[in-house]
Amino acid sequence: MSDSYSLLILPGDGIGPEVMTEVVKVIDWLQANRGLSFDISHGLVGGSSYDAHGTPLTDETMAKAQAVDAVLLGAVGGPKYDDLDFSVKPERGLLRLRKDMDLYANLRPAQCFDALADFSSLKRDVVAGLDILIVRELTSGVYFGEPRGIHADNNSDNEGGRVGINTQRYTSGEIRRVARSAFELARRRNNKVCSMEKANVMESGILWREEVQWVRDNEYPEVELTHMYADNGLMQLVRKPGQFDVILTDNLFGDLLSDAAAMLTGSLGMLPSASLGKPMANGRPKALYEPVHGSAPDIAGQGKANPIACILSFAMALRFSFDQGAAADALERAVEKVLADGVRTADLMGPEGGTPVSTSEMGDRIVAALAQA
Ligand code: NAD
Repeated sequence: MSDSYSLLILPGDGIGPEVMTEVVKVIDWLQANRGLSFDISHGLVGGSSYDAHGTPLTDETMAKAQAVDAVLLGAVGGPKYDDLDFSVKPERGLLRLRKDMDLYANLRPAQCFDALADFSSLKRDVVAGLDILIVRELTSGVYFGEPRGIHADNNSDNEGGRVGINTQRYTSGEIRRVARSAFELARRRNNKVCSMEKANVMESGILWREEVQWVRDNEYPEVELTHMYADNGLMQLVRKPGQFDVILTDNLFGDLLSDAAAMLTGSLGMLPSASLGKPMANGRPKALYEPVHGSAPDIAGQGKANPIACILSFAMALRFSFDQGAAADALERAVEKVLADGVRTADLMGPEGGTPVSTSEMGDRIVAALAQA
C-alpha cells in the first residue's frame, strides 16, 4: 500500500456532479486494484454552495482546499444564478480558489486522440498524434495590472470623450516562477519549451524573454528553449502544431493560444486542465484540476455529458500531485482504447451517426478498459 493522497472533490453545478460520479468510479477502481489510497473529502462550490450557504465558497471549504494535496472540481454556474449579485455568482467560488491558492501556472494539454482526429477543424495529418502542453501564467499580467479602468478624457480631440486603460505588468519573480513550472514539466516530456511574448513591441515582453532565458541558462541547461512572438506562435500552432512540446506564455496570450489549441483537438468534453501554485511542505504544488468545459445546463441531468475531460483532469492529478505517472498513463490509454473501440457520448458523434452511450456507460467502459491497460 502506498501513501494516502488527500483529495478534495468539489462537483459543483449542472453536469459537474454527473461527470464527477464517473471519476469516483475510476478512483474506487484504483484503490481496489492498484493499491493506491486516497483520503477523499467532498465539498460544495458555485451555485450548489450558494443554495446551501448563501456563498459560492465557504471559508471552511477554502481552508480544506488549502490543506489537501489536490482539489478536483467539476464545473460551476447555470441560468438559475444569472441574476445574483456579482459578489456571490457561482464563478466567484472558482476565482477565489484560484486566487487564494495562488495558482499561477495553468496547464492546458492539447492532445489529439487518433480516433477523434477527424473532429478537428484541421486536416487529420496535421493533428493526428498531437500532444502539446500550454503553460499559461494565470495570476498577473494585463488582466490584473494597475492602473485600469474607463475614464473621462475630455482634454484631447477624442470623439466620445473616454479612455479605457489596462496595464500589462510582470515582475521578474512572477516570470521566473511560471518559467520554472514549464521547465519542470518539459523535463517529464520531451525537454522542449517554446516561450511566446511580444518582445518586438512590449517592454514586458522583453523582460519575459530575458527572465525565461535566465531561468533556463541557470537552472535547466538541458532543456531546449526557443522564443517566438505570440502572433507568429498562434499562426504556427494552426500551421504545424506538432513542432511544439511545452508552450510557455503570459496570461493574455495564453488565453488566446490555449483556446485555439483546444479547438485543434475536437470536443469541449475532452479537455482537461490543471492549475498549479507554489510547492507545499511535502514538495507537491498546490493544485486544482478541472475540465475546461462549464456546467452545460442545456444537457444537465440527461445523462448526455461526456465525462472524459474530468477523468483526464484526474489523470493530470495522478501525474502532477500524486507522482503516479504509471496510473495516469494507464488511465489515458484506457480512454484512448474506449474511443478507438468507437464508444461515443453524444458530443463525439460524427456525421456517420450511431447510438451514443450515456455518461455512466462511458465511465463504466473506461473503468473496464483500465482493468486491461
Ligand atoms: P459550457 O462549457 O457549459 O457548454 C458549452 C457547450 O458545450 C454546450 O452546448 C454544452 O452542452 C457542451 N458541453 C460542455 N461540456 C460538455 C461535456 N462534458 N459533454 C458534452 N457536451 C458538453 O459553456 P456555456 O454554455 O458557455 O456555460 C454554461 C455555464 O457554465 C455558465 O453558467 C458559465 O458561466 C459556466 N462556465 C463554467 C466554467 C467552469 O466551471 N470552469 C467554464 C465555462 C463556463
